[in-house]
This record gives sequence, structure tokens and C-alpha cells, in this order.
Amino acid sequence: MRIDLHTHSTASDGTDTPAQLMQAAARAGLDVVAITDHDTTGGWQAAADARPTTVTLIRGCEFSTAVAVGGRSVSVHLLGYLFDPHDPAIVAESGRLVAERLRRGLAIVDKMAAGGLPISRQQVLDLAAGAPIGRPHIARALIAAGLVNTVSEAFASYLSGRGPYYVPKRDTDLTTAVAMVTAAGGAAVIAHPRGRGEYRALTRERIGELRDAGLVGLELDHTDHDGADRAELRSIADEFGLLVTGSSDYHGENKPVRLGAHLTALDALHRLVAATSGVTPAIGEAVIG
Ligand code: AMP
Ligand code: ZN
Ligand code: FE
Ligand code: FE
Repeated sequence: MRIDLHTHSTASDGTDTPAQLMQAAARAGLDVVAITDHDTTGGWQAAADARPTTVTLIRGCEFSTAVAVGGRSVSVHLLGYLFDPHDPAIVAESGRLVAERLRRGLAIVDKMAAGGLPISRQQVLDLAAGAPIGRPHIARALIAAGLVNTVSEAFASYLSGRGPYYVPKRDTDLTTAVAMVTAAGGAAVIAHPRGRGEYRALTRERIGELRDAGLVGLELDHTDHDGADRAELRSIADEFGLLVTGSSDYHGENKPVRLGAHLTALDALHRLVAATSGVTPAIGEAVIG
């Protein structure tokens, strides 16, 4: 069973439309795929409409969240699966995050333009085409301007969190977000908990507290994790009874990783689905039931 629980489409900062993502999932031989765009459920309907019958679709979202550590805000990504997209708290908070992405994306562009880089607000808005703005959209503008050759190069230079053009966004408190997804009938799983600076925020103790707030799992097999990260996360998951997932975090042409590069075990998917209320079912139940 090939199960990939973390992918992005043009509804956020991927380059496949939701329909293309579904076709690509079939071509990659996936039995189950989750669409998890940043801070939006905007791709859900198009993905469902285009779903090949051989592919089960899990509707999800990757929420931008933060943990305060010693006066600093550490960014953490939280995957929410199969929650009610009409839940008022979810609607309000995703709307706030999308507005925050627009404010912050334009602020980065303004800084770059003021610094003499030949990119514009309109160009980035056109590249995002209505999706919540992410730095990969700005990376595309930097590529078009001939300043870098790839999105990764842009992140290593102009878009770096330590660079002169960086502007932070105000993300949702992580514990609040876990509780919000859970209350909306969904399942909350921390995305790449050892991706970058997350180890400072996601101590064993804090993960235990998040479990008490409703957290059901940790993403373990992910391109950003080395062997030591995976061993540590597995030990934490075992201690707190959390399930573990594996996922590609596919972004189309915006990242080198391919669909299905990392996979989730079927029993972990069963546990994840069992933790949800059923208000947003998986579509294509054959492998879930
Ligand atoms: P943002 O959400 O606007 O802060 O941008 C962060 C997003 O950019 C992440 O979700 C990744 O998808 C992407 N990203 C971060 N680092 C890189 C990188 N080195 N290469 C390509 N994409 C990246
Ligand atoms: Zn992304
Ligand atoms: Fe992420
Ligand atoms: Fe992601």
C-alpha cells in the first residue's frame, strides 16, 4: 500500500494544480494521497472532482503555527486531516493566516524592491494566482528576474530567515492549533518535527503536552530528517502513544522531492482516520475500510 500524507498544489506553493496532483498521484502508484496546502482548504474541491478512482483522497491542511521559546517564536508546521472546513474557528484562523501571508509577502517584496531587486508586488500576486502567498512565489519572481536559478538557491540567499529581506508572519500558537483541529473533528500531526529549528520548540516534554491537547501523530519519514532524527522521533512517539507518518511534502517543480518518496504504513492511516469524527471522510474508502 503506497500512502503519501503530505503534498502541496497550486492552492498554496506547489506547482501542480489539484487536478494535476491527483493525476500525478495515480502515475506515482499511490493508493492514498493527502492534499495539505498551507493554511487553506482551497484545493479540496478540485482535488475531489479530479480524483482517479484508484486513489483515495485525504483532505488536509498544513497550518502555520509557532511556539514561544525564551522570548523567540519558533515556526512549527501542523498537519490537520479530515477536519470540518466550515468549523468557525478553522474558517476564522485560516482567513487570518491567509491575510497575514499577503501582508508579509508584500512586505518582503517591498523590501527587495527598495533594495533595488527588479521584482514587483504585481508579479508575485500574479505568480500566486489567488493562492495564499508563500516565499516560493517570491522565489519564482527572483528566478524570472535572473537573480537565482532555483527555488532552493533563492531560499539559501534572498529568502533566508536570516537574510536582510526577511519579514516574519504571526502564526497560530501550536497548542491552540492542535486543539482547533481536534475540536473540528480532525486529526493533528506535527509536520517534519526536526525539519529546521523545531528541536528547540518540540522537546519530548512539550510533545507530551501536545498529546494531551489532542495531537495524534508525528511525521517521521521526511526528507528533512536524518537517521538520528527519525530514531529520536520514533522513541518519542512510542513513549506517548503517537502514530508516525511518512510523506513526500511534494511541491511539484518548487522542490526536488518526488511524490511517494516517503510513505505511511496502513495501520498508522487506520489510526489516524479512527481519530477523526467522520465529518470529512476520506474519499475512495476501499483501502481505508
Ligand atoms: P513560507 O511559508 O512563506 O514561510 O515559505 C516556506 C515554504 O517554502 C516551506 O513550506 C517550503 O515549502 C518552502 N521552502 C522552504 N525552504 C525551502 C528550500 N530550501 N527550497 C525550496 N523550498 C523551500
Ligand atoms: Zn510549502
Ligand atoms: Fe512544512
Ligand atoms: Fe509542506
